[in-house]
Amino acid sequence: MTRATRALLRWQNLRHNYSLAKKSAPNDAYAVIKADGYGHGLVPCAHALSGLADGFAVAFIDEAERLRSAGIEEPILVLEGAHHVEDWAYAAANAIQLVVHHPSQLDDALRADLTSEVNICLKVNTGMNRLGVMPDQVPDMLERIGQNPHLTLIRMMSHYATADEQDTAFYQEQKQRLKSIPSSVPLSISNSAGIVRGVLDEEDLIRPGIMLYGSSPIAEQSAQELGLKPVMSLQSELISEHWVKAGETVGYGQTWVADKDTRIGVVAIGYGDGYPRHAPSGTPVSVAGVRCPLVGRVSMDMITVDITQVPDATVSSPVELWGDSIDIDEIAHLAGTIGYELYCRLTSRVPRKEWS
Ligand SMILES: *Cc1c(COP(=O)(O)O)cnc(C)c1O
Repeated sequence: MTRATRALLRWQNLRHNYSLAKKSAPNDAYAVIKADGYGHGLVPCAHALSGLADGFAVAFIDEAERLRSAGIEEPILVLEGAHHVEDWAYAAANAIQLVVHHPSQLDDALRADLTSEVNICLKVNTGMNRLGVMPDQVPDMLERIGQNPHLTLIRMMSHYATADEQDTAFYQEQKQRLKSIPSSVPLSISNSAGIVRGVLDEEDLIRPGIMLYGSSPIAEQSAQELGLKPVMSLQSELISEHWVKAGETVGYGQTWVADKDTRIGVVAIGYGDGYPRHAPSGTPVSVAGVRCPLVGRVSMDMITVDITQVPDATVSSPVELWGDSIDIDEIAHLAGTIGYELYCRLTSRVPRKEWS
């Protein structure tokens, strides 16, 4: 392997960020590591947090299976619950907690002929209008759960629609809707944004995701301001450099025009690696430790950068796309997306390596 492009991962920062989230937890905090640990690696993230995290949360049962197969013994919560009848048997045999968000899942649980117990979380729709039963369906669901001797309800759960936004009215409303459901079961509602804004006193389980990776869950405060540290440093290097004269253009579509003689550096990363194609000219790229502007369109395997201000930079000079010197949230904002998506879209072509 000769291309320098790689994602270096600092597991101590993952542990730092988890510990920060855990400080807000009235009880447990499960690390959300779905979608391949937000692109950082499902099993590596679990190993890095094993012994520290109270448990893990993933989206669907296959992700839980990968964790159990890798020897992860902590509690695992599956956020979408069982998709099919056979998921119930796997959950029962492997101590997987399942979310129940629709009555059909209880039908499946009956069909599964369980012989051992499954811990479940009942998901209530408090306004996100994605998954969950309506508050007035809860008594019915509780009764049905009570009728199945193999199901144990361990908490009631909901999910915020707007906790990341500055206007907190609807977020407060959702909290109230969850709290006002008559039930003695403990609650779980906070994602990273909810954690940063303040968790419910009664919360049995908080569910930090994005903040674990060192990206800010809210617009008004940066990750650094929140005390979060980036886990990933996406790095590459220059593979070419050259001068262009004033008036010349660079790249596909001639979208960037040099207003003066400019030294261009070519970096070995592109949208084929998951660097966002919509990053506009001006997006910062750290070349030999200096923030330089991206110029022209992002190609599949390369980007072009104005390195005029870094005379020492040459072929093989180190480049960081996001990480310590550049906040992923800044790149995401410029590219019209969110840090979550940039992490998840990093392709398998980019080797993930432990920082050493
Ligand atoms: C993904 C997810 C989380 C974590 O959300 P972040 O915004 O990444 O903290 C929490 N709860 C549920 C139900 C989720 O699907």
